[in-house]
Amino acid sequence: MFFKSKFLLFLLLQCSMSSRAPPKALLQDMVVPPRQLFGPGPSNMADSIAETQSKNLLGHLHPEFVQIMGDVRLGLQYIFKTENKYTFAVSGTGHSGMECAMVNLLERGDRFLVVEIGLWGQRAADLANRMGIEVKKISAPHGKAVPVEDIRKAIAEYKPNLVFVCQGDSSTGVAQPLETIGDACREHNALFLVDTVASLGGTPFDADALKVDCVYSATQKVLNAPPGLAPISFSDRAIEKIRNRKQRVASFYFDALELGNYWGCDGELKRYHHTAPISTVYALRAALSAIAKEGIDESIQRHKDNAQVLYSSLKKYGLEPFVEDENLRLPCLTTVKVPEGVDWKDVAGKMMTNGVEIAGGLGATVGKIWRIGTFGINSNKTKIENVVELLSKSIDETRSKL
Ligand code: PMP
Repeated sequence: MFFKSKFLLFLLLQCSMSSRAPPKALLQDMVVPPRQLFGPGPSNMADSIAETQSKNLLGHLHPEFVQIMGDVRLGLQYIFKTENKYTFAVSGTGHSGMECAMVNLLERGDRFLVVEIGLWGQRAADLANRMGIEVKKISAPHGKAVPVEDIRKAIAEYKPNLVFVCQGDSSTGVAQPLETIGDACREHNALFLVDTVASLGGTPFDADALKVDCVYSATQKVLNAPPGLAPISFSDRAIEKIRNRKQRVASFYFDALELGNYWGCDGELKRYHHTAPISTVYALRAALSAIAKEGIDESIQRHKDNAQVLYSSLKKYGLEPFVEDENLRLPCLTTVKVPEGVDWKDVAGKMMTNGVEIAGGLGATVGKIWRIGTFGINSNKTKIENVVELLSKSIDETRSKL
């Protein structure tokens, strides 16, 4: 009797387990159409980077992979222009760099000054609010930067422990000048944190000369690698603050000292922390190799020159950049005013049917602008001229529908 009922139960379980059919979608091949990515990111992958994605995996503690991690650290020091020992890549997208910086550099009772020129300052303030940190914001109207004098004054008055600046705000296309902010931070015992997710490699940045204490970026913009790693660098001052924290860093995954050890920054025996995304690290190594071959300053100059190509192409078709002061435009991401009576979404949709992505605004700029990213290999004269020609054609086509 006992065996009979057990057998029935077994049959019942078998039936209920096998009754679920596999999802039909997964029985089909994945569809990935070709696309020219001229939005705010991700950008297109260069062939030399894409090739790394089919290489066999190595164990994350194998000596050959440890060597690759070491190469990546050297490449990141080169593009951030820093001697910082604690220079590595956080496993995660740009946001993980932001969270890593903030959970390590802020603790309860600290004051945080945020320079807000668009969405990314708001995001930094939001993260700090979630951590229970007091935040003060100093803002510029969208399309403008905050005058450096005002930032220096705010540092002197508010006496923050940490100052956040986004160098290139991808929601507005503004490049915030950074000169002398680091000096004011040193004078008033604050740390200086800079977001370079949308700007690194596309506009001048020198972590050590600017006296930056922490800088993070991402792989999917100028570097032309897949999203998934956030390059980051901490100065000795920043590491000292982290070592002397009153409370332990609340996140294990983002603990900078643990990550620094895993990436071989502290010269100590390497401990297991997590499993690095091996293929994405290969891609970053290839991306850094491409920049090393071109030269970081040459890459920056190319983005600057091709931004001029973009501005004159826009002019040719009667289109205007959103950021009026040319000196405050981010060379690798240009925001363009949507002309009166034009539906930005229809135009972007039309471009997409031609295999080209550009994006609309983000946050407060939705409906007002388009965002054209010309990152890395997409910073190319012919490609840019073609994109602007298609933009103008798409505007005309959507207009004639009205
Ligand atoms: N900061 C800036 C300036 C960005 O442009 C972005 C992404 N667009 C991020 C941070 C966040 O990066 P991710 O989407 O890779 O998390």
